[in-house]
Amino acid sequence: MDEFEIIREYFDRPSIDTRVITGVGDDGAVLRPLPGLDLVSVIDTLVAGVHFPISLDAADAGYRAVAVNVSDIAAMGGKPTWMTLALTLTESSSAWLGAFASGLFAAADEYGVTLTGGDTTRGDQLVITIQMNGEVKSGQALLRSGARAGDAIYVTGTPGDAAAGLSILQEGDERNSDADYLVSRFARPAARPEIGQAVATVAHAAIDLSDGLYADIGKLLSASTVSGSIELDQLPLSTQLTRSMSHDAALQFALGGGDDYELCFTSDLSDEKIQAIVAGFGVAVTRIGQVGDGDGLNLTSAGIHFDYQSDGYRHF
Ligand code: ADP
Ligand code: MG
Repeated sequence: MDEFEIIREYFDRPSIDTRVITGVGDDGAVLRPLPGLDLVSVIDTLVAGVHFPISLDAADAGYRAVAVNVSDIAAMGGKPTWMTLALTLTESSSAWLGAFASGLFAAADEYGVTLTGGDTTRGDQLVITIQMNGEVKSGQALLRSGARAGDAIYVTGTPGDAAAGLSILQEGDERNSDADYLVSRFARPAARPEIGQAVATVAHAAIDLSDGLYADIGKLLSASTVSGSIELDQLPLSTQLTRSMSHDAALQFALGGGDDYELCFTSDLSDEKIQAIVAGFGVAVTRIGQVGDGDGLNLTSAGIHFDYQSDGYRHF
């Protein structure tokens, strides 16, 4: 199969989005933005063996590549719309491509994103890059830099699960239903675009959790030139995580593990009002801490300083 057959067979689907004027098949895609909206543009690369184990199911790799980009759009308060896919393959395996495309389009359909083009190449390593666009009302994009002293810090879902799932995959740990759940949180992360959009006008700042809660909240605080404190007793840990290991180990995954793709945002609205805004989404949104007017991130456990050192995953 050459690349033109690959594109035709696996990636050229008719689009139902009437604002995709020209999709796959020409030199470029032609897309029609709406007046009154700003475009949000993100890109994320997944390198096999670096961002996911080579053994990861191809359908999960496809799903994940879409979800991690939707997560960046969500962290900007945006609604995902269009994406392009740059795929570097080591071989053209129709079994792999079929599964990959099924996972990719499952996520695309779930999040309402249209694949409008891409690039298909051969290389020494499997590399999946997705560039995605999203839309926000003009001037309403949610930035990392808007947190203010006095804001509360909120997090969606249950951080730590995905990193524990990755560790189970890497260590080849024995599987039970809890382990399967944790692995699924890594393989098919749930991005939170509805929550990002819902809080866009009431949140002051947001970031998605890709490198670990501690490191990512640190980035938000430093972009906002404020300090923060997080009370570890408030951290929402899943029962699947806490049943699988000691409380300390679960905390390490929640603070230092990456790949959650949950949202963290700050707001000065009352917790009751935040809960009312996010009530319909079926995802826990938990107040875990407070923004202050110093710098740095302080952790407490039952109100007492908790010593923790980590600055998240770095490639170089
Ligand atoms: P060009 O040589 O003009 O860059 P290509 O032959 O690379 O064009 O691509 C032909 C068409 O197929 C283009 O519309 C491109 O966007 C699309 N395309 C290529 N690879 C992919 C892919 N992996 N997924 C979706 N569309 C793709
Ligand atoms: Mg061309």
